[in-house]
Amino acid sequence: MGAWARRIRNGLLAAAVGAAVGSAPAATAQPVDCAAVKCVALTFDDGPGPYTDRLLQILREHHARATFFLIGDKVAADPAAAARIAGAGMEIGNHTWSHPDMTTLPPQEIAAQFAGTSDAIEATTGQRPTLARTGGGTIDDAVLAEAQRQGLAVINWDVVPFDWINDADVSATREVLMRQIRPNSVVLLHDTFATTVDVVAEFLPVLEANGYHLVTVTEMLGPRPPGSLYGGRDNGPPADELVDTPG
Ligand SMILES: [Zn+2]
Repeated sequence: MGAWARRIRNGLLAAAVGAAVGSAPAATAQPVDCAAVKCVALTFDDGPGPYTDRLLQILREHHARATFFLIGDKVAADPAAAARIAGAGMEIGNHTWSHPDMTTLPPQEIAAQFAGTSDAIEATTGQRPTLARTGGGTIDDAVLAEAQRQGLAVINWDVVPFDWINDADVSATREVLMRQIRPNSVVLLHDTFATTVDVVAEFLPVLEANGYHLVTVTEMLGPRPPGSLYGGRDNGPPADELVDTPG
């Protein structure tokens, strides 16, 4: 199936799930050309969790899409939460079953970490993920080879604002976002912190004022080859490209 057919099918599925849970219609999937306009792909790891639905509501209010890398055992514990993420028009990626350092595992456990998570996501959303991110973004050749066998492209990030460290002082998270985001950045965040959701609520208007479109990883990067690796684990030099907005 081609990317467009898949996107249309996903859109229909997302609308159906949205209707099933009685939520507002999914954000209309207007295609965005990230070669022509400024895009950023916010990614949220480690959910679903207690703050995920509030984040979805905020994203919905801003007609923003994002990518959620979900942990398999959390999806299995709360499959409806994962279905709501898909129903809101978000992309879902595989964040392993239990968030180990994948580079320390024997091959059969690497395979099980990816496969169990993709199975759990597909069981509740009807959609098998094509993207994966490992716990901590740790990768080696064995992990990439298994990702390739399972049809998964590995996505790390361009911008890491350390929201999990800055939980008590989110001004530091905001500062990294201000300085590091540039067109086509993939940004690592975690919807497992209430303060991260607060920062996103405050920061989306800044991105909008700077002309950014909030899209999923696949919308921004296009289909990625299984077994490939995008991005790194550190921030590069600051871009200082964003203009802050009052308030
Ligand atoms: Zn994680």
